[in-house]
Amino acid sequence: MLMLAGAAQSVVNHPGPIVKSPSDNRDYRAITLDNGLKAMLISDPTAVAASAAVDVHVGAFHDPEDRPGLAHFCEHMLFLSTKAYPVENEYFKFLSQHGGHANAYTASTHTNFFFEIQPDQLEPTLDRFAQFFIAPIFSEDAVDRELHAVASEHSKNLQNDAWRKRQLLKSFANPAHPYHKFSTGSVETLLPNNSSAKVLREKLVAWYNRSYSAPLMALTISGKQNLSTLQQWAVSKFSAVPRRAGVAVPDYSKLPRPYADHELPRAYDFKPVRQEQSLTLQWPLQGLMTKDNLAEKPLKTLGFLLGGEAKGSLLALLIEKGWAEGLVAGAGDAEDDYSIFEVRVACTPLGMDKWAEVVSHVFGAIRAMKKGIGNAAEAARIGKMVRHVDELNFDYKEEEEASGYTSDLAGNLHQYEAADALRGPAVTSGFNATRLAGLLARMTPQRLLLLRADFARNLTKVQKEKWYGTEYAELALPAGSLEEWSYPGVPSDGGLTLPEENAFLPSDFKLLAQPARAAASAAAGAAEPPQLLFNRSSGTLWHRTETSFGLPMATMQISWAVPRVGRSARGAVLAQVKP
Ligand SMILES: [Zn+2]
Repeated sequence: MLMLAGAAQSVVNHPGPIVKSPSDNRDYRAITLDNGLKAMLISDPTAVAASAAVDVHVGAFHDPEDRPGLAHFCEHMLFLSTKAYPVENEYFKFLSQHGGHANAYTASTHTNFFFEIQPDQLEPTLDRFAQFFIAPIFSEDAVDRELHAVASEHSKNLQNDAWRKRQLLKSFANPAHPYHKFSTGSVETLLPNNSSAKVLREKLVAWYNRSYSAPLMALTISGKQNLSTLQQWAVSKFSAVPRRAGVAVPDYSKLPRPYADHELPRAYDFKPVRQEQSLTLQWPLQGLMTKDNLAEKPLKTLGFLLGGEAKGSLLALLIEKGWAEGLVAGAGDAEDDYSIFEVRVACTPLGMDKWAEVVSHVFGAIRAMKKGIGNAAEAARIGKMVRHVDELNFDYKEEEEASGYTSDLAGNLHQYEAADALRGPAVTSGFNATRLAGLLARMTPQRLLLLRADFARNLTKVQKEKWYGTEYAELALPAGSLEEWSYPGVPSDGGLTLPEENAFLPSDFKLLAQPARAAASAAAGAAEPPQLLFNRSSGTLWHRTETSFGLPMATMQISWAVPRVGRSARGAVLAQVKP
């Protein structure tokens, strides 16, 4: 690291190249300010929008036990007013006057703030944004008003099955780990026992002062200005963010695990609000944020193995049996100290009847994958394929929406070294069959957390989840099912296999020479007209070569003229039914 003297503040400049996509023409620079705040600067002279984001490595898990939702409430309050810009909502007014917008989210261990604005208004917006982290006011009347904004956000979530399901599963976790907490907040949780807004404000200020500190923050700034100008703004506006003594990233690793092995398996019926029929299977696993795991991304690879849709996949088999219409597999949660792997099967009514067999097939697939990657040649093939797809996506990626990009990158700066902060999160590099087999070995019937969601089922012995009022009931597993699901062999049924080689993955990316016709049109200043390749009564096929973007991509659009769709309401509805 190299120390550079700034005008008033010094800054550590990370030397060495930041690995970026070959199709990315932006310039990057990583710095750390004197106060410990990390920043990534992104210069793009052609940008049509400027953006910045701050990710604070603290979130809802850090809520005081007696004030669920305080971290989220703090996130809302920071937007309202600061000592430098005391007029309430001046920030949003300024953004809307300059074609901008802003938002934020509070996750379990991160809080992420971002904005987007016209490129020439970046500096004044940064000046306002930085004050959130330097001198917010948290005025008492704003506390009262914003409380209702948070409460209405929660009441909107009350009718959302994804939120209801997530909280229900969390409610079964050990209360000694913050995973069990309710994170959104409501009037009831933020003003318990009719306590006053004044008390809430005091709690909020105290919490902010012991949670937000410069070394826990990562900043990204993307603008059309050059890197020196962006650096000068980062230094001049964010160096005043206090570094608070004794404030560190909260460490939950010494606490009891969200689920102890002896507390599993567990199975519940969940009453959805919507017409849903599904099975959610979860297995708690260890934290996978170490350097090796960040490179290998085992949960993503397991998601690829278990969530495939081609011949030989679990989903293809369940569809063939008429039991499922969709399946998603991947990380249900991934924090520093624990992860949760999840398989969600959208069932047909028949699949719902046969739910125990659907679960049995999930375990069959887990065993088949474990056996498959036990073969070194097969493991190498899968590893190569996963990496190939990631590399294609990274090397030929299209430009992202400005604030989505700065927001994600700010979060990634906490996990990855600056040099690897762009490529690291995108590309799976390394395939460790032993490590994957170790995780699959933990995904057993004995460690299962199962949720059966069926709108058509009437529950008995109904219980209600505390925050959402979700109706649920214990689901007794049919006798012998644990033994059956634990069958040690690989079922011959359906031929579950590792994903086959994808014959459509390209390896040659040379752009085809521009056809003479196109060159002639371009020279004449006209766009090349498409060519008619196929013309029969059954249909027509048009083609046009487009090389001006320099990207090896093709798009295909197929339109069917189906007159019966538009003729009746029945036809229109049938056209929307999935095959
Ligand atoms: Zn909110």
